[in-house]
Amino acid sequence: MKITRVSTLLLSATLPQERRWRSDLGTMVKADIALVQVETDEGISGLGAAQGSPEVIKAMVEDELQPLLLGEDPTWTERLWAKMYNGSRFEPSLARGYSLQGHGRRGDMMAAIAGVDIALWDIFGKVLGQPIYKLLGAARDRIRGYASGGWAPGEQAGEEIAGYIAKGFTAAKMRAEGMDGFSIPKSIRRIAAARKAIGPEVELFVDAHGSLNPSTAIRLAKRMEEYDVGWFEEPVSPDYHSGMAEVRAATSVPIATGERETTRFEFRDLLEKRAVDIIQPDIAISGGFTETRRIAAMASAYGVRFAPHVWGSGVLFAASIHIALSAPNCHIFEVSQARYGPLVYEIFTEPFDIREGHVYAPKGPGLGFELRPDVEKRFAYVPGPAYVYTSA
Ligand SMILES: [Mg+2]
Repeated sequence: MKITRVSTLLLSATLPQERRWRSDLGTMVKADIALVQVETDEGISGLGAAQGSPEVIKAMVEDELQPLLLGEDPTWTERLWAKMYNGSRFEPSLARGYSLQGHGRRGDMMAAIAGVDIALWDIFGKVLGQPIYKLLGAARDRIRGYASGGWAPGEQAGEEIAGYIAKGFTAAKMRAEGMDGFSIPKSIRRIAAARKAIGPEVELFVDAHGSLNPSTAIRLAKRMEEYDVGWFEEPVSPDYHSGMAEVRAATSVPIATGERETTRFEFRDLLEKRAVDIIQPDIAISGGFTETRRIAAMASAYGVRFAPHVWGSGVLFAASIHIALSAPNCHIFEVSQARYGPLVYEIFTEPFDIREGHVYAPKGPGLGFELRPDVEKRFAYVPGPAYVYTSA
């Protein structure tokens, strides 16, 4: 079997005015996704997701990576990952047994590599007639989900989080900054309202999207301890691992991070700096199945748990299920409660199997999902930024 074509499919969904929400990222006006399609001479094709700037991903996948992949056997996943990562030096890299990486090895290029890698595993699963999590080595056939949302201002945060729990979830995540803007008292008021509404047994997580500096994050974390927050996510910039470690050392609230990190090398730095309790690689950013399973295994040696970041496309959601079902140290799975998320929940012919707060294994081979034939028409790509900054 040989690869005959590698292409991208860019899709957008514009949020209706009444479904838009605001956080520290600004107001989200639309969602964009970049999907990767790998075709073969035997008629089997694979689907992947790359989380980055869509038009940049398209150029990287089609112009930079496709020439490296044409004519190769798509089931040789390690070889092709090494080829994409090491570029022209991949032959000596495989011969010597260590990386001799090329120039494009981080940022959106790693997202593009991830998108291709996910599509290759989809093909591999279809060739063998097995779901990807079994190829990786199955650890479980369902994973506990947590409801990820939480933007409501002030006391309304209680009602919002309680609404998620009413759907059957036993854990939920809220944003440190809600629609009412950021201050420590505002955050604490929302967290207190959420805890009061859900009682002591439900796990409650708080995400700051890397928006705080260490001293502010420490002050907030210390106040959060009283509300038994299960993890504090991205308290500081992902570009400041030692700042993350400083926050972790100053509070009993566990630290979660990693959704914007790429490759085992960046995660090694987080682990060596003792900066993290729960790693959250995004499989469509961190390097696909091939790299993310290495990251999860490495974290397990540090006693660090794995909770993948799952926010973007349905293809990311599907791929994340497989990595979560196969990584023994994965304990929980992000289920978006975005106020408008058709690119997650409405692109496949079959719905995800989410029941009683758990996400269940897909039955079909590969990723286990096929795109609806009308996605390109329904979600035509619209250039321009997804977020517009508006103050609260
Ligand atoms: Mg996050």
